[in-house]
Amino acid sequence: MKIIEYFSHYPDEDSCKLEFKHYRESNGITCKKCSSKNTFWWLGSKNQYECKKCGFRMSLKSGTVMENSKLPYQYWFIAMHLMTCTKKTFSAYELQKQLGHKYYEPIWAMMHKIRLVMGKRDDLYNLSGDIEADESYFSTLYSENENEFTNEIEELKRGKGSQRKTAVLVMASNKKMNQRELLKQKGNLTTKPKFIKMKVVEDGTIKELKKTAETNVDLDSSIKSDKAKSYRKAFENFNKLEMYDMSVFESEKILPWISKAITNSKSIIQAIHHGVDSKYLQNYLNEFCYKYNRRNFGEKQFNRLLIAAVGFVWY
Ligand SMILES: [Zn+2]
Repeated sequence: MKIIEYFSHYPDEDSCKLEFKHYRESNGITCKKCSSKNTFWWLGSKNQYECKKCGFRMSLKSGTVMENSKLPYQYWFIAMHLMTCTKKTFSAYELQKQLGHKYYEPIWAMMHKIRLVMGKRDDLYNLSGDIEADESYFSTLYSENENEFTNEIEELKRGKGSQRKTAVLVMASNKKMNQRELLKQKGNLTTKPKFIKMKVVEDGTIKELKKTAETNVDLDSSIKSDKAKSYRKAFENFNKLEMYDMSVFESEKILPWISKAITNSKSIIQAIHHGVDSKYLQNYLNEFCYKYNRRNFGEKQFNRLLIAAVGFVWY
């Protein structure tokens, strides 16, 4: 959506709130207390729903990604628009500046919640077919203080976090295109990846790698990967393995799609976010993959994300 169109659709807080309410109701509302569905009165003056069965009241934001957020609907809409209108992204600092908001932390937290929604949405699907898979190591920061959220941001801002490498399993489904897609390509028989996934491998062990791969890829898939890294064990349960010695072959030739995804995601993280905390790396990867997987959605991306943000059950 172009920025002029965006602002003609959502010029103010009321228009955003109405659209949010519309999507929320289209998606169906479930009572938090008695679990009955779509049996509510709307109490407009209070911005609340009241369950016709048990009388329980809940706010318009309750149970959605915006639950407990004091930020206006407009902020969330603008954030979702800016995050989906570009292949790259915006930093929380930039968004804070654009919104003219006094504090950094709520904007940072809002963007991370949106990235969590993106990840949850993509987790509904597994990759299948011909899969490229390999690990990559992302440079990340981590702060000494594991609990104090605010201090942590401050430490990272001052560059106090230490450097570490975080292992990420990168997977791409390289399925052959169907007939309609081939016609679109005017007979060009090259294959294109449909979807990618990038998942942080928590402790970097083969056991964890195996679990991550099996959670994200159907077992009847064929895996193409790097022989040199002894991945035979990690991928042993998949239908077929093709292992290449990457000291002999160039990884860009054997695993072209994930090579590109790794380069592009690292450059976004470096250029826009200037390094990220290892604890939040997965969220940034969620955003990259979500947008990659919907790269042909065009202007629909914003609405799809809004549907995901409203529809995702947050409790
Ligand atoms: Zn109820």
